[in-house]
Amino acid sequence: MQKAFRMKYGNSVIQYCVSLQDRKSLSISVHPNMIVEIKAPLKATRKQIEKRLQKRAPWILKQLNYFEGLQPLTPSRKYINGETHLYLGKQLKLKIRKSIQPNVKIQNGYIIVNTNPQHNQQQIIHVIEEWYNIRAKLIIGKIYGEMIKEFHSKKLIPRAFQIRKMKKRWGSCTPGKKIILNSELIKAPKNCIKYVIIHELCHLKYPNHSNKFYQLQSYFLPNWEFWKNKLELIMS
Ligand SMILES: [Zn+2]
Repeated sequence: MQKAFRMKYGNSVIQYCVSLQDRKSLSISVHPNMIVEIKAPLKATRKQIEKRLQKRAPWILKQLNYFEGLQPLTPSRKYINGETHLYLGKQLKLKIRKSIQPNVKIQNGYIIVNTNPQHNQQQIIHVIEEWYNIRAKLIIGKIYGEMIKEFHSKKLIPRAFQIRKMKKRWGSCTPGKKIILNSELIKAPKNCIKYVIIHELCHLKYPNHSNKFYQLQSYFLPNWEFWKNKLELIMS
Protein backbone atom coordinates (compact mmCIF):
# COMPACT_ATOMS: atom_id res chain seq x y z
CA MET A 1 0.00 0.00 0.00
CA GLN A 2 1.53 3.30 -1.03
CA LYS A 3 1.20 6.35 1.10
CA ALA A 4 -0.28 9.41 -0.54
CA PHE A 5 1.30 12.83 -0.09
CA ARG A 6 -0.17 16.23 -0.80
CA MET A 7 1.59 19.16 -2.36
CA LYS A 8 0.27 22.65 -2.89
CA TYR A 9 0.67 24.29 -6.25
CA GLY A 10 -0.98 27.68 -6.58
CA ASN A 11 -4.63 27.13 -5.75
CA SER A 12 -4.45 23.43 -6.39
CA VAL A 13 -3.43 20.43 -4.41
CA ILE A 14 -1.66 17.56 -6.06
CA GLN A 15 -1.94 14.18 -4.37
CA TYR A 16 0.79 11.77 -5.25
CA CYS A 17 2.22 8.38 -4.33
CA VAL A 18 5.86 7.52 -4.31
CA SER A 19 7.48 4.20 -4.93
CA LEU A 20 11.19 4.10 -4.29
CA GLN A 21 12.98 1.83 -6.68
CA ASP A 22 16.43 0.83 -7.67
CA ARG A 23 16.62 3.26 -10.55
CA LYS A 24 18.61 6.29 -11.65
CA SER A 25 15.96 8.80 -12.62
CA LEU A 26 12.61 10.00 -11.40
CA SER A 27 9.45 9.47 -13.42
CA ILE A 28 5.99 10.93 -13.03
CA SER A 29 2.85 9.38 -14.41
CA VAL A 30 -0.77 10.43 -14.10
CA HIS A 31 -3.22 7.54 -14.27
CA PRO A 32 -6.86 7.72 -15.39
CA ASN A 33 -7.92 6.93 -11.81
CA MET A 34 -6.38 10.32 -10.85
CA ILE A 35 -3.39 8.80 -9.11
CA VAL A 36 -0.15 10.67 -9.64
CA GLU A 37 2.58 8.12 -9.36
CA ILE A 38 6.22 8.95 -8.78
CA LYS A 39 8.88 6.36 -9.31
CA ALA A 40 12.01 7.62 -7.65
CA PRO A 41 15.51 6.36 -6.95
CA LEU A 42 15.98 4.84 -3.49
CA LYS A 43 17.93 7.83 -2.22
CA ALA A 44 15.47 10.49 -3.41
CA THR A 45 14.25 12.88 -0.72
CA ARG A 46 10.79 14.34 -0.40
CA LYS A 47 12.26 17.75 -1.15
CA GLN A 48 13.82 16.57 -4.39
CA ILE A 49 10.61 14.90 -5.43
CA GLU A 50 8.51 17.99 -4.71
CA LYS A 51 10.92 20.23 -6.53
CA ARG A 52 10.44 18.12 -9.60
CA LEU A 53 6.67 18.00 -9.05
CA GLN A 54 6.49 21.80 -8.85
CA LYS A 55 8.22 21.97 -12.19
CA ARG A 56 5.91 19.44 -13.79
CA ALA A 57 2.77 20.70 -12.01
CA PRO A 58 1.18 22.47 -15.02
CA TRP A 59 1.42 19.26 -17.03
CA ILE A 60 0.16 17.15 -14.10
CA LEU A 61 -2.83 19.43 -13.56
CA LYS A 62 -3.65 19.32 -17.24
CA GLN A 63 -3.65 15.51 -17.15
CA LEU A 64 -5.74 15.47 -13.97
CA ASN A 65 -8.25 17.85 -15.46
CA TYR A 66 -8.51 15.66 -18.48
CA PHE A 67 -9.09 12.53 -16.42
CA GLU A 68 -11.34 14.41 -14.02
CA GLY A 69 -13.73 14.63 -16.93
CA LEU A 70 -14.16 10.99 -15.94
CA GLN A 71 -14.75 9.78 -19.40
CA PRO A 72 -17.47 7.20 -19.18
CA LEU A 73 -16.43 3.99 -20.84
CA THR A 74 -19.46 2.17 -22.07
CA PRO A 75 -18.59 -1.31 -23.18
CA SER A 76 -20.24 -2.33 -26.40
CA ARG A 77 -23.37 -4.31 -25.79
CA LYS A 78 -25.20 -6.71 -28.04
CA TYR A 79 -28.59 -6.39 -26.33
CA ILE A 80 -29.28 -10.08 -26.36
CA ASN A 81 -30.88 -12.40 -23.82
CA GLY A 82 -28.75 -13.14 -20.77
CA GLU A 83 -26.43 -10.17 -21.28
CA THR A 84 -25.88 -8.15 -18.11
CA HIS A 85 -26.72 -4.47 -17.94
CA LEU A 86 -26.14 -2.07 -15.08
CA TYR A 87 -28.91 -0.26 -13.28
CA LEU A 88 -28.21 1.76 -10.12
CA GLY A 89 -25.01 -0.22 -9.63
CA LYS A 90 -26.65 -3.63 -9.96
CA GLN A 91 -25.93 -6.13 -12.69
CA LEU A 92 -29.25 -7.13 -14.21
CA LYS A 93 -29.77 -9.75 -16.87
CA LEU A 94 -31.59 -8.86 -20.02
CA LYS A 95 -34.66 -10.87 -20.96
CA ILE A 96 -36.19 -9.91 -24.28
CA ARG A 97 -39.67 -11.23 -25.02
CA LYS A 98 -42.08 -10.65 -27.84
CA SER A 99 -45.32 -9.33 -26.52
CA ILE A 100 -48.41 -7.56 -27.76
CA GLN A 101 -48.10 -5.35 -24.66
CA PRO A 102 -44.65 -3.76 -25.03
CA ASN A 103 -43.02 -2.45 -21.86
CA VAL A 104 -39.81 -2.62 -19.86
CA LYS A 105 -39.65 -3.60 -16.21
CA ILE A 106 -37.25 -4.81 -13.55
CA GLN A 107 -38.08 -8.08 -11.87
CA ASN A 108 -35.98 -10.54 -9.82
CA GLY A 109 -32.64 -9.39 -11.14
CA TYR A 110 -33.84 -9.10 -14.72
CA ILE A 111 -34.59 -6.24 -17.03
CA ILE A 112 -37.57 -7.66 -18.83
CA VAL A 113 -38.15 -6.10 -22.21
CA ASN A 114 -41.46 -6.94 -23.78
CA THR A 115 -41.20 -5.84 -27.36
CA ASN A 116 -43.53 -5.56 -30.25
CA PRO A 117 -43.23 -8.84 -32.26
CA GLN A 118 -42.48 -6.81 -35.38
CA HIS A 119 -39.53 -4.98 -33.84
CA ASN A 120 -36.07 -5.59 -35.26
CA GLN A 121 -32.86 -5.51 -33.15
CA GLN A 122 -32.32 -1.81 -33.75
CA GLN A 123 -35.80 -0.98 -32.51
CA ILE A 124 -35.33 -3.20 -29.45
CA ILE A 125 -32.12 -1.32 -28.58
CA HIS A 126 -34.00 1.94 -28.99
CA VAL A 127 -36.72 0.76 -26.59
CA ILE A 128 -34.13 -0.19 -23.93
CA GLU A 129 -32.17 3.07 -24.31
CA GLU A 130 -35.37 5.06 -24.12
CA TRP A 131 -36.31 3.23 -20.92
CA TYR A 132 -32.90 4.01 -19.39
CA ASN A 133 -33.37 7.62 -20.38
CA ILE A 134 -36.75 7.89 -18.72
CA ARG A 135 -35.46 6.20 -15.55
CA ALA A 136 -32.43 8.53 -15.53
CA LYS A 137 -34.58 11.65 -15.71
CA LEU A 138 -36.87 10.35 -13.00
CA ILE A 139 -34.35 8.95 -10.52
CA ILE A 140 -31.36 11.26 -11.01
CA GLY A 141 -33.83 14.16 -11.02
CA LYS A 142 -35.23 12.97 -7.70
CA ILE A 143 -31.77 12.58 -6.09
CA TYR A 144 -30.81 16.02 -7.39
CA GLY A 145 -33.99 17.44 -5.93
CA GLU A 146 -33.09 16.03 -2.51
CA MET A 147 -29.49 17.27 -2.61
CA ILE A 148 -30.21 20.74 -3.87
CA LYS A 149 -31.99 21.72 -0.64
CA GLU A 150 -28.75 21.65 1.33
CA PHE A 151 -27.00 23.79 -1.25
CA HIS A 152 -29.88 26.25 -1.35
CA SER A 153 -29.52 26.76 2.38
CA LYS A 154 -25.90 27.75 1.72
CA LYS A 155 -27.01 30.17 -1.00
CA LEU A 156 -25.55 27.99 -3.72
CA ILE A 157 -28.23 28.06 -6.35
CA PRO A 158 -27.82 26.82 -9.93
CA ARG A 159 -29.59 28.70 -12.71
CA ALA A 160 -30.60 25.63 -14.68
CA PHE A 161 -30.48 21.87 -14.56
CA GLN A 162 -30.44 19.22 -17.25
CA ILE A 163 -29.97 15.48 -17.59
CA ARG A 164 -28.68 14.29 -20.93
CA LYS A 165 -26.32 11.83 -22.48
CA MET A 166 -22.72 13.06 -22.49
CA LYS A 167 -19.83 11.30 -24.14
CA LYS A 168 -16.93 12.55 -22.07
CA ARG A 169 -18.16 13.63 -18.68
CA TRP A 170 -20.33 12.53 -15.79
CA GLY A 171 -21.41 16.04 -15.12
CA SER A 172 -20.59 19.66 -15.58
CA CYS A 173 -21.26 23.07 -14.10
CA THR A 174 -21.16 25.71 -16.80
CA PRO A 175 -19.89 29.27 -16.25
CA GLY A 176 -23.57 30.27 -16.52
CA LYS A 177 -24.27 28.06 -13.46
CA LYS A 178 -26.12 25.37 -15.30
CA ILE A 179 -25.72 21.88 -13.90
CA ILE A 180 -25.69 19.09 -16.47
CA LEU A 181 -25.67 15.45 -15.43
CA ASN A 182 -24.97 12.50 -17.68
CA SER A 183 -28.02 10.23 -18.02
CA GLU A 184 -25.63 7.24 -18.07
CA LEU A 185 -25.24 7.78 -14.31
CA ILE A 186 -28.46 5.78 -13.91
CA LYS A 187 -26.18 2.73 -14.26
CA ALA A 188 -24.12 3.73 -11.20
CA PRO A 189 -24.92 3.24 -7.48
CA LYS A 190 -27.04 5.96 -5.92
CA ASN A 191 -24.14 7.29 -3.84
CA CYS A 192 -21.97 7.65 -6.94
CA ILE A 193 -24.76 9.75 -8.47
CA LYS A 194 -24.80 11.81 -5.28
CA TYR A 195 -21.05 12.29 -5.50
CA VAL A 196 -21.25 13.65 -9.06
CA ILE A 197 -24.14 15.97 -8.11
CA ILE A 198 -22.24 17.29 -5.08
CA HIS A 199 -19.07 17.72 -7.10
CA GLU A 200 -20.83 19.82 -9.72
CA LEU A 201 -22.81 21.83 -7.18
CA CYS A 202 -19.59 22.68 -5.31
CA HIS A 203 -18.34 24.19 -8.56
CA LEU A 204 -21.03 26.86 -8.12
CA LYS A 205 -18.78 28.28 -5.43
CA TYR A 206 -15.36 27.29 -6.75
CA PRO A 207 -15.05 26.72 -10.50
CA ASN A 208 -11.62 25.10 -10.01
CA HIS A 209 -10.28 22.11 -8.11
CA SER A 210 -8.55 24.10 -5.42
CA ASN A 211 -8.03 23.14 -1.81
CA LYS A 212 -11.15 25.09 -0.87
CA PHE A 213 -13.16 23.26 -3.47
CA TYR A 214 -12.18 19.90 -1.95
CA GLN A 215 -12.91 21.20 1.53
CA LEU A 216 -16.44 22.11 0.46
CA GLN A 217 -16.89 18.79 -1.31
CA SER A 218 -15.74 16.94 1.84
CA TYR A 219 -18.18 19.00 3.90
CA PHE A 220 -21.10 17.77 1.81
CA LEU A 221 -19.74 14.25 1.28
CA PRO A 222 -16.91 13.30 3.67
CA ASN A 223 -16.17 9.95 1.99
CA TRP A 224 -16.42 11.24 -1.58
CA GLU A 225 -13.18 9.52 -2.57
CA PHE A 226 -14.74 6.13 -1.94
CA TRP A 227 -17.69 6.86 -4.24
CA LYS A 228 -15.50 8.46 -6.86
CA ASN A 229 -13.35 5.30 -7.02
CA LYS A 230 -16.44 3.14 -7.05
CA LEU A 231 -17.85 5.09 -9.99
CA GLU A 232 -14.66 4.64 -11.94
CA LEU A 233 -14.46 0.95 -11.10
CA ILE A 234 -18.03 0.04 -11.86
CA MET A 235 -18.37 2.05 -15.03
CA SER A 236 -15.13 1.11 -16.68
ZN1 LIG B 1 -14.82 19.29 -11.27
